Amino acid sequence: MFKWLALALSVALLNGSPAAAQDVQGVTLLKAAHLLDPRSGQVLSPAAVLIENGKIVEVGPSLVHAPAHARVLDLGGATLLPGLIDSHTHLFLDAVAPAEAERIRTGRSEPGVLLAIVESPAKRVLTGAKLAREDLESGFTTVRNVGNSGIDGDTELRDAINGGKVEGPRLLASGRKLIARGSYVRNLNPALADAILQQEYLTVAGPDDARAAVQRNVFQGVDQIKVALNHDMSPASLAAVVDQAHRQRLKVLAHAHDRESIQEAIDAGVDSIEHGDEATDQQLKEMRDKGIFLDVTPWVWEKVYPMSPARNDRGRQAEAALVQKVLKSGVKFSAGSDMYLYFPGKTRGEASATMFTALSRSGMPPLDIIRAVTANGAEMLGWQDRIGAIEPGKFADIIAVTGDPLKDISELERVGFVMKEGRVVKNELRPHGSGAPE
Ligand SMILES: [Zn+2]
Repeated sequence: MFKWLALALSVALLNGSPAAAQDVQGVTLLKAAHLLDPRSGQVLSPAAVLIENGKIVEVGPSLVHAPAHARVLDLGGATLLPGLIDSHTHLFLDAVAPAEAERIRTGRSEPGVLLAIVESPAKRVLTGAKLAREDLESGFTTVRNVGNSGIDGDTELRDAINGGKVEGPRLLASGRKLIARGSYVRNLNPALADAILQQEYLTVAGPDDARAAVQRNVFQGVDQIKVALNHDMSPASLAAVVDQAHRQRLKVLAHAHDRESIQEAIDAGVDSIEHGDEATDQQLKEMRDKGIFLDVTPWVWEKVYPMSPARNDRGRQAEAALVQKVLKSGVKFSAGSDMYLYFPGKTRGEASATMFTALSRSGMPPLDIIRAVTANGAEMLGWQDRIGAIEPGKFADIIAVTGDPLKDISELERVGFVMKEGRVVKNELRPHGSGAPE
């Protein structure tokens, strides 16, 4: 009896929770008319994927070795793709975009962001849980949350998802964003400023402080370190951030828009540069040579920001120019939605998926877009052995669309089937699903 209990307990611990364990066990044969491998651009037609205990064990045009007891899921004419990766998101912000006049008046302090910071952690984490589920339902099976989640919002949400308590994508947590005092939020009441800032950011005042900030995030169990550079952090502090993070085997993501900050991030040897709007050809080549990823965050704000047409055009033009430079340079790139605003009429997943047509509008070919949010994203996270492709050994994180995403990238806005780790999260494609093997 005791032995049995101990065995049951150890099985439960190994799998996170008994419920999660049940969900991923068993054998599934997933069939569809096509399967796109983003790395090669090759399409396998027809396609069959054998899944066992949440992992892919075999892929081919038809699988003769599928065991008789396998559950068969036939998605008919659909195209299978690896689950999507949003490399830059903010699940704990659902801010209402301020009117342009308000934005000009307040400078960098966006009222919506400040309001979120002073909300209760419980309220924020519930928002985060809702937005995480919505991301997953739109096909994002992995997301990198890059700051603005309070002190432990994203590490706790990640653990809750992994433990089967709430539904959501694989989540890589950053904890608090490292910033120089003066970034993002300014002009607070001095008597309250530190207490407020500390809820959201770790302010870095020098190299020792930088190491301590990294360690505070290590204490919270983060997956990576996010640092924001607005040409306001000393090279010595940034070097300390990178060294301390790498000692802890954590990657460093640097937010950098302007040319100076991008150069500072390259010189410090960060692992990825987020946004990179003003990157020059020379800087992109340097990044390519050093193996630094550029995480492109396309311009998706015209629908949520009531901004002037001129400003909107500038945003689009700058993005198109960057995409052309990126494609020419050979730098490794991924893509992220940078979604942090409430998008009227859309779930968070639907809002994040607007990045695909935004990238396409900027001249990025469909296959490059799909690579950015699958294989490239996986490599940037250091998870290329787990996700980013449909092949034996990887987690069965698989999505399906009805049309051809290589012809029309907006297909990725209409993901009809989502599987995470072998478990069907959503299936609106069920043409002839059956419980019996064929
Ligand atoms: Zn961001």
